[in-house]
Amino acid sequence: MRIGVLALQGAFREHMVTLEALGASTVAVRQPEQLGDLNGLIIPGGESTAISKLMTTYGFYDPIRQQHSAGMAVWGTCAGAILIATQVLDALPDQEPIGIMDIGVRRNAYGRQVDSFEADLEFKHLPGDDYRGVFIRAPWIETLGEDVEALASHDGHVVAARQGDMLATAFHPELTGDPRVHRFFLDEIVAS
Ligand code: GLN
Repeated sequence: MRIGVLALQGAFREHMVTLEALGASTVAVRQPEQLGDLNGLIIPGGESTAISKLMTTYGFYDPIRQQHSAGMAVWGTCAGAILIATQVLDALPDQEPIGIMDIGVRRNAYGRQVDSFEADLEFKHLPGDDYRGVFIRAPWIETLGEDVEALASHDGHVVAARQGDMLATAFHPELTGDPRVHRFFLDEIVAS
């Protein structure tokens, strides 16, 4: 299984380390041409405005949409969840999402005063105990289209969701050392 991690800005290396430990081969994606033979793509956390500027510069928007239509699974973490959404609430004026997952995501939803926190989450379909979510200036998922399944919530807000071959998490599973969400992505989303 070949999984690309968009490597323009943000926490991409940590995703690659976790995926490799699970036996996937990974590609640090820096050019749209590299999307061609991927089974899945992760858009990492970081700063969605910075990532979207770099995506425009390198011409990633349409190639990601096209490869996704052609069968490439996509997972967005934090800033990545903002980027794959069809609607961004509290977006900066020129911030364009890729718009492939039918969710409305509120940027910086938890506010500046609680920039970062950790919380135990009941994550549907994961084996074992609660999953420790690391939230860093995180968004939440405010609206979910009909085909979207909520997978985890925190304080009444959805923080993980799935739609077909797409996964969005508001938190950072690559920073915890617990590979269960990556395993879920590989086994249940990419391989299905
Ligand atoms: N607040 C960031 C943004 O709007 C996301 C933070 C993160 O990815 N950890 O892009």
